[in-house]
Amino acid sequence: RNVGQQLEKTVAEYGSTEAIVSCHEQKRYTFRSLIEEVDRVAAGLLKLGLKQGDHVGIWAPNNMHWYLTMLGAARAGLVSVAINSALQARELDYCLKKAKVKAVVMSETFKSQNFYEIMKSICPELPDSVDGRINSVNLPHLKHVIIDTPNRLKGALSFDDLLGLSNRTEYEAITQLQRHIAPDSACNIQFTSGTTGHPKAAVISHYHFVNNGIHISNRNQFDSNTRICVQVPLFHAFGTVITIMAAMDKGSTLVLPAAGFSPADSLKAIVDEKCTVIHGTPTMYVDLIKKQRELKLPLKTAKMAVTGGAPCSPQLFLDIKNVLGLERVQTVFGMTETTAIIFQTRPGDSMDQILNTVGHLQDHVEAKVIDAEGKTVGFGESGELCVRGYLTMLGYYEDEEKTNETIGRDGWLRTGDQFILQADGYGRIVGRLKEMIIRGGENIFPKEVEDFLNSHPDICETHVVGVPCERLGEELCAFVRLQDGVTKISRDEIKEFCKGKLAHFKIPRYVIRVDNFPKTASGKIQKFKLVEVYEKEHQ
Ligand code: ATP
Ligand code: MG
Repeated sequence: RNVGQQLEKTVAEYGSTEAIVSCHEQKRYTFRSLIEEVDRVAAGLLKLGLKQGDHVGIWAPNNMHWYLTMLGAARAGLVSVAINSALQARELDYCLKKAKVKAVVMSETFKSQNFYEIMKSICPELPDSVDGRINSVNLPHLKHVIIDTPNRLKGALSFDDLLGLSNRTEYEAITQLQRHIAPDSACNIQFTSGTTGHPKAAVISHYHFVNNGIHISNRNQFDSNTRICVQVPLFHAFGTVITIMAAMDKGSTLVLPAAGFSPADSLKAIVDEKCTVIHGTPTMYVDLIKKQRELKLPLKTAKMAVTGGAPCSPQLFLDIKNVLGLERVQTVFGMTETTAIIFQTRPGDSMDQILNTVGHLQDHVEAKVIDAEGKTVGFGESGELCVRGYLTMLGYYEDEEKTNETIGRDGWLRTGDQFILQADGYGRIVGRLKEMIIRGGENIFPKEVEDFLNSHPDICETHVVGVPCERLGEELCAFVRLQDGVTKISRDEIKEFCKGKLAHFKIPRYVIRVDNFPKTASGKIQKFKLVEVYEKEHQ
């Protein structure tokens, strides 16, 4: 099945169930009312002159037009390109060019982000164009700009205009189009998070989307009573696949509390919309817990939290479960290049499995761990995780070299993650290879040190990086955010805390207190930026 056929199946089975509730826009759709709107978007995009396989960029925070455009593009046989809503002019320029975006659906403004002005700065023809039809010198591929706003902005087409472009016969004909859209054709271009540098554009097919969604919802035991509080951005794999596609499989409901992450709005949405499941990255849960300790709202309906995208320390797992009063916390582990999920915890997992593994290998996926020479190591030994199966991306968009570096001829995809595979099919993440610290010949993965420091009562969150050291090559520097009410912590205190519990070479040489960490939009810590902070302080 392609994504459009999967949606039809859901409408047939769960038509009257709510598909999405956008709290901040006060909009709600059942699956039946959704598909009509989606098909109007699809027909509108085709009416603009877009042809099957053309790329439609979506540049917005979490809102209805994001969701409608992603599904509308899929139903029209177009490829959606998910663009990070926080991008500034130079980065947007890079993404639009890289992915050869022909039409872009975007917001007007969000908080301090003025999407219209940023677009104008790289596409000065915008205000003079007619009905969003662009003839741009800088962006020769870009032909249409659609802006979601009640006001008509100079040069652009509004989202309502797009919905009104087609007549009933035209949007009803979208159903007939579905059998001409091959499941193994591209459906979405997804940029990686940019945690370790420049984001890479992974091409994902309909088949990838539909099947990863099915396996995720099966393992999470989603059903049509499941209501998910969506804190993660829709423009990453967590949002598109783990959230949108998994929810679609069983007729589950998405609840968007706010356009951007806001812990207070999330808590309110859980109460008002009776959410049963919460989706978030570890750093989001740190803030959510803090807010809940303050507000103490009755989150009676919430049963499960799903965390993924970055390591979650055992202490944080326990806090999520206890402070939010949940029955269970599930982990998802994967990457953009594998559609989304490779490993996932299972209902009924033991406490040890929940706290110390990233779950069990997803169905229909092969995994192996290799050493630096590429030889497969045994169960329980550490090395680079490689995966093979239906879930590996079609490739990086128009980048054969990088694709071949990542996916070998034999189909194995290298994750770049240091990992331990257990004989029982569960896996443990050791850390990213790129973030491994080599101190005096000892390989250290920050996660172990971070997990330990996070158990210090005064510490709220820790991130450890390697910084240059003439004698040892690298030294450890811990960045710490302290609990509310605590004002300082000394290096000696930390050293004392670690003594006898961590090998001496893993004890951070430097400790820097911070109030915030440099993050990607999905809340991942950009460690390369922390190294820059250290370098500035030690110039
Ligand atoms: P980039 O590739 O641009 O540097 P990124 O790797 O963060 O960014 P994603 O594809 O969104 O982009 O993230 C995948 C990576 O996130 C994995 O390779 C892994 O390192 C990390 N990750 C994902 N889930 C988990 C998890 N549950 N626990 C620990 N790490 C995780
Ligand atoms: Mg990556």
